[in-house]
Amino acid sequence: MQQPVLPGTAASGQQTTLGVMGGGQLGRMFVQAAQRMGYFTAVLDPDPSSPAGLVSHIHIQADYLDAQALAQMLQRCAAVTTEFENVPAGAMATLGAQRPVSPSAPCLAIAQDRIREKAHFQACGVPTAPYAVITNPEQLAAIDDALLPGILKTAQLGYDGKGQRRVSNRAELAAAWAQLQAVPCVLELQLALHSECSVIVARGWDGAMVTFPVQRNLHMAGILAMTEVFDGVVPAALANQALQAARAIAQELQYVGVLCVEFFVVADPLAPGGAALLVNEIAPRPHNSGHYTLDACDHSQFDLQVYTLAGLPLPTPRQHSPAVMLNLLGDLWYLHAGDVTGADAAPRTPDWMSVLALPGSHLHLYGKLRASPGRKMGHLTLTGLTPQEVRDTAVQAAKLLGIRLA
Ligand code: ADP
Ligand code: MG
Repeated sequence: MQQPVLPGTAASGQQTTLGVMGGGQLGRMFVQAAQRMGYFTAVLDPDPSSPAGLVSHIHIQADYLDAQALAQMLQRCAAVTTEFENVPAGAMATLGAQRPVSPSAPCLAIAQDRIREKAHFQACGVPTAPYAVITNPEQLAAIDDALLPGILKTAQLGYDGKGQRRVSNRAELAAAWAQLQAVPCVLELQLALHSECSVIVARGWDGAMVTFPVQRNLHMAGILAMTEVFDGVVPAALANQALQAARAIAQELQYVGVLCVEFFVVADPLAPGGAALLVNEIAPRPHNSGHYTLDACDHSQFDLQVYTLAGLPLPTPRQHSPAVMLNLLGDLWYLHAGDVTGADAAPRTPDWMSVLALPGSHLHLYGKLRASPGRKMGHLTLTGLTPQEVRDTAVQAAKLLGIRLA
């Protein structure tokens, strides 16, 4: 097993540096958590104004597969993690040959491919939505009508609802697959969702695992809009199932790092409580639905990413406050500017003064230089003493900012 990578300055006088592949907001919050503990940080991202690059001690601006950049990461970093799942698995393999890297390249490869991901869920005995794999015209022709209406999803490179097409019949399915360039896909039955939830699990090099509480997620147009976390938000029986499933999925992968497992909740008259849990997908990194942990837990998901990467003893995170998280998408910067949105309209500043005056309001902005519709600019966490209190405050915040929650 690897030696722990301890924070602070080594006896040699050298600063201990943790690296992250990718400079988005998740990388930024990892960097901030690592720095708070006394690590130096290095970010590899080609974008000179990436959110994580802007706050890191070292920012290597190069392509993820650039040999010189990877050599620099190896020279600087004692261990390396990633903040986006589509980091080339080859880059992680190169780094992993010489340094502790988490998550591992094989785990990333599974999470990067819906076909392999679903096969893994089946191997773990965790039910998914009914689905079929489409990689050739024969498989397309053999699709069972029971999977329609369905959602066709590219096996790779989809996120925030991108790379997906809703299809109601065979003709639409064929057209949608052609439109997606006939790349490998899965067709999933379109479910009548009762709700969605997710679990963040952290697993160490030694196999120790800890979980955060189960959170309920509301998506709008395929993008996370709100996460609610407090006792009872997900019925206890379902929450226990979700925690067990998340642990099994991480364990079977021999996963090291922070993993988010997303679930669908569907009505099922045969299941106890009338509802059943189906696993949707995994994200091999901290997740948008776990951002509330920064303000409502004694350790955040980013702290756990640092602990798992460095091989430190994993703390069991404790939620100390009921919480609601609202995503702040770029759309909010263009409200009230007539009907024009996007690059042509002049952005405005959302009403932070009113939002910050709300009780238990925690604003996180990611330092992105330009707002555009659908872009994740930041998030707002509301904490309070009771679920009712945080829900009421979240409704007020959403109204002040113009966030639609239905
Ligand atoms: P992404 O990688 O873009 O997050 P997901 O597969 O998680 O892709 O889909 C995004 C959202 O679309 C889900 O959170 C859910 O709200 C909706 N969705 C996805 N698959 C289904 C399905 N089979 N039935 C109903 N809704 C779905
Ligand atoms: Mg998703």
